[in-house]
Amino acid sequence: ITTTLRPPTITLDDVFISVKTTKRYHKSRLYVILKTWFQLAKEQTWFFTDSDDKDLQNKTYGHVINTKCPASHHRKALCCKMSVEFDAFMDTDKKWFCHFDDDNYVNVPRLVEFLKDYNPKEDWYLGKPSIQRAFEISSKNKTSPKIKFWFGTGGAGVCISRALALKMMPAAGGGQFMRTGEKIRLPDDVTMGYIIEHLLKKPLTVVNQFHSHLEPMKFIRRELLKDQISFSYASNNIIKIEGFDILRDPTRFLSLHCLLFPYFKFCPR
Ligand code: UDP
Ligand code: MN
Repeated sequence: ITTTLRPPTITLDDVFISVKTTKRYHKSRLYVILKTWFQLAKEQTWFFTDSDDKDLQNKTYGHVINTKCPASHHRKALCCKMSVEFDAFMDTDKKWFCHFDDDNYVNVPRLVEFLKDYNPKEDWYLGKPSIQRAFEISSKNKTSPKIKFWFGTGGAGVCISRALALKMMPAAGGGQFMRTGEKIRLPDDVTMGYIIEHLLKKPLTVVNQFHSHLEPMKFIRRELLKDQISFSYASNNIIKIEGFDILRDPTRFLSLHCLLFPYFKFCPR
C-alpha cells in the first residue's frame, strides 16, 4: 500500500503577512494596497514602518507597527525593520511568515493555496532570486573559499515556515537579525539568505509565481495573471492589463484586482 503524506491543511489565518513600508509611502504606495488585497487579509497583514500615523492606523484597524527604525533605504535601517518583522512573527502562533514590500500586490487566495503544498513543520525558505548565480562574499579567512549562497529578493516576497524560523532564532531572533546584517554588511534580503542558506544550510526553493520589479512585468501572460502570487511595479515596468485608465491606475493594481475579484465595489460591472 502506498500512502501520500499531505501536509496539514492551512488557512489564511495560519499566515503572518508583513509589509515593509516607510513614512513617505504611507499615502502613495499604501493607498492601492489598502483598497485592494489588504481587504482580503485584514486580520493577517501588518505594516512595519518608521513613524506614527493615526490615519493609517485607523485604515488598517490598528495593524501598523512603528519599528522606530531609521526612515532610510540604507542597509542598517532595512535590516532593523526585518528584525522587527521577524520578532513580531515569532510572537504569534502562525505557521508561515511571508514578507512583502509596499510595492507588491499579493494574490491572497493564491498565496494560501500555494502554501498548502508545503509542511510548515519542515524547513522551507520560499522565494524568487533576482540574480543569475549564487551571491558571493569572501570569507574572513582570506585563504578559505568564497561563501556562496542564494537569496529570495525581498521585493518579490519571501515565505518562511515556522520550523525554519525557529532554527533561525540564534542569528535572527531578539534583534539578532540586525546584528547579523551589520556583521556581513548586506541588505535585509541578502542577510536572510546568508542566515538560511549559509549558516543553516537550508536551500532556497524558487517560486516562479513571485514577481519583483527587477523582472519585466509586461511578460506575464494575461491568462496566467490569476496564477501568480505576487506582482510589483516600477516606472516603465507595469503589468500589461486592460482596465482602468493609466492615470487612475498607474500601478495597474486596481485593474488586476478587478480581474481577480470582480465583485469588489470599485470594479466596473
Ligand atoms: N523602504 C524603507 N525605507 C526607505 C525606503 C524604502 O523601508 O527609506 C522600503 C519601501 O517601503 C519598500 C522597500 O523598502 O517596501 C523597497 O524600497 P523601494 O521599492 O523604494 O526600492 P527598491 O529596493 O525596490 O528599488
Ligand atoms: Mn521596490
